[in-house]
This record gives sequence, C-alpha cells and structure tokens, in this order.
Amino acid sequence: MTFSFLSHLECSRTGERYEADEVAGTSAAGAPLLARYDLERVRETVTPAEIAAREPNLWRYHEVLPVRRPEHVVTLGEGMTPLLPTPAYGKQAGVPRLLMKDEGLVPTGSFKARGAAVGVSRALELGVRGVAMPTNGNAGAAWALYAARAGMRSLIAMPDDAPAITMKECLASGAELYRVDGLIGDAGKLVHAAVAERGGYQEVSTLKEPYRLEGKKTMGYEIAEQLGWRMPDVLLYPTGGGVGLIGIHKALLELKELGWLSGELPRLVAVQATGCAPIVEAFSRGARESEPWPEAKTVAFGITVPKALGDFLVLDAIYATGGTAVAVTDEDLLAAQRRLAGLEGAFICPEGAACFAAVDQLRESGWLDGGEEVVVLNTGAGIKYPETIDVDVPLLAKDGAIPPA
Ligand SMILES: *Cc1c(COP(=O)(O)O)cnc(C)c1O
Repeated sequence: MTFSFLSHLECSRTGERYEADEVAGTSAAGAPLLARYDLERVRETVTPAEIAAREPNLWRYHEVLPVRRPEHVVTLGEGMTPLLPTPAYGKQAGVPRLLMKDEGLVPTGSFKARGAAVGVSRALELGVRGVAMPTNGNAGAAWALYAARAGMRSLIAMPDDAPAITMKECLASGAELYRVDGLIGDAGKLVHAAVAERGGYQEVSTLKEPYRLEGKKTMGYEIAEQLGWRMPDVLLYPTGGGVGLIGIHKALLELKELGWLSGELPRLVAVQATGCAPIVEAFSRGARESEPWPEAKTVAFGITVPKALGDFLVLDAIYATGGTAVAVTDEDLLAAQRRLAGLEGAFICPEGAACFAAVDQLRESGWLDGGEEVVVLNTGAGIKYPETIDVDVPLLAKDGAIPPA
C-alpha cells in the first residue's frame, strides 16, 4: 500500500520541477518549493469516508503528506482539533455563525506542532541528523521537542524578548538555544551563518524547506472534513510568515482537484497587528509583494514578521479568493482575548485574538454583512503567554477572608 503519493517539488515562482527524495531548501530562484502529489491516484485509492474512519490526528491525510513510510512518522498526536461554535462572541460582533478552529489543543500549545511533526518526520526520512532555525518562539519550541522525539539535534535562535516559556521548552528538550538582540530576521542571519560554518544541520526556517507547509495545510483538510467536505464563507488567519494561510489555500486547491470539496472557496483574510502589518500595507496598494516593515512591534509575537519570504503567496491567496487583509491594534486584540475568555470560556493566544478583533472590525466596516459563516483560526493557547493577558491580579484576600457580597 502506498502511504504517500508525493511526486515532485515545484518552484512557487517559476513552476520548475525538482526531485522530491533528497534534502531540499528553496528553488534556484530563491523561492519556496511546493510539494506536489499524484492526486489522480489519491482519488483512486482512498475516499473521504475511509479517511473519516481513521485515527483523529493529521496523519489521517497521509496520502497527501510527504512522508513515504509510516515508520518515519514522528508524532505526539497532533491534529484534528475542535471546530467550535463561538455564538456569544458572534452575537456581539453581529456575525452569528462564527466558529473557531482551536489549535491551542495541539501538543506544544500552538499549531506550529503541525509543521514540526511533518517537517521533522520527513527530515528524519531523508537522513537529516540536526535541524536549525530562527523563530519568534513557538516554532522553535515545537521543532526542538519533535526533534528530541526523533532523536535529532536542534539549534534554535530567537529574539531576546520572545515568550520565556518557549525558551524553556527548547532547553528542556536539549536544544542548543541562542537569544538574539534583534528580530527574527537577525536570528535568521545568525542561524544561516552557523549552518554554513558547521555543516551537519538542515536549515528549516519558514518556507526554506518544503514540508512544514505540508503539516500546516492539514488545517484546511480538517476544516473541510469537519464541515462535511465543504468550506465556510470566510476564513481569518493571524499572519506572520503566512505559512498557515498559504497552506490552507494549497489544501483547498488540492481538495478541489481531488473532487472532495464542492462550492466556492472561502474568502481568505490575513490578519496582522498595526505594529507589524506589511501584508496589509501591500494589499492596500494592490501590490503582489510586501515591503519590509520598520521597527516591528506587537504583543502578538507569532505575527511579528517584518518581511516574509512567502509574502507573494499570501497575497496571491487573498486576491484569488476575494479576501482581504486587516490590521488590529494591540489594545483591540487584548480586549478581544479577554472578551473571548469571558463569553466563550476559551483562553486563546494573542494572535488568535487578533482575528476575533478583526471580525468586529470587518463587520463594522461592512466587509462582512453578518450572514456569512466565518471561521477564525486560533493558532495557540493563551496559557503560553502568561505575561500578556491584560488583567490585574488582585491583592491577597484581606485578613484571609472573602468580603460579603
Ligand atoms: C507562528 C505563529 C503565527 C503565524 O504563523 P504563520 O503561519 O507563519 O503566519 C500565528 N500565531 C501563532 C500563535 C504563531 O506561533
């Protein structure tokens, strides 16, 4: 039985073909490589009903994932996260059919585990013994932990003010960790130089290897499956490097080609913070690529990416689906984080909260008319950011007593 129908890699700019079964970085044009599958054979081999009967993790889609042999799968049980209605928030926002795909329940507490699971598994299969990457925190933690599970080394560099818990996750897993006085791009330069100097590591920076994207695309497969093989009208995604959005778009196109998805594609919305909004700025000019954002700063760490390698793919996905790009302030996203906890009992990450704030904004501007079915991607758990939540912790109860009501 064929586990994966991976056929080749393709340059996302030129369409040039590359061999899939050797360690790969970017294309000759310096662009991300996309994994391509023999979808016709996938269609002949498996049905959506058969997939529905499989274990509830992302490996249920193994025919359209790049790992060729099941024994190379490195897993902590990631995937098949709940798609939850959030009716109370939706009612306040004027978008009653509001749903949240909750990636806070994934191992390591963020959806970065999807990319790490598939990326590390495929690296293991291709004989890689160490992975190296710059990160804003969550990706480093996820790759360090999955690398540990695979028996691989990891070298991680992150901005000095990245969430402390992500540094501790790296260290606990035995990663070699460096804190960098700068942003993710500065960390990237150090990693690149170290890999060139040392050898023995594969650089797995965002979109600089093809398989992290394949892990993240499974969010698109799951949403389709969970809605009965159809799509919502609108999908909002907190966009940093954009891998999740590009991945979901890729999944939708594959699903269409497989004939498993009917109807229109959802309008894809890239959500950023006003402190770092290069995609929003590019979209507002109708541009196909973004300009580097100066002095990027927001409490939503995971989306602090001043210039993404895959920016043109994010913008393509937005234009192709009739979507949009919006920026929200830190104040608004922190308020949305609290409101969601109070109204829905969900303590989500600041990046996911940015998308809920964006729902309010898009409804107010009239871009959403309120009749749509809208899915928000919450990309991580609020408990990974214990310092970020905007609440005052009360003083000790006076004289050890709780006052009468
Ligand atoms: C990395 C990250 C993002 C942004 O992901 P991309 O797919 O690279 O745009 C969003 N939210 C959280 C919590 C993250 O860790």
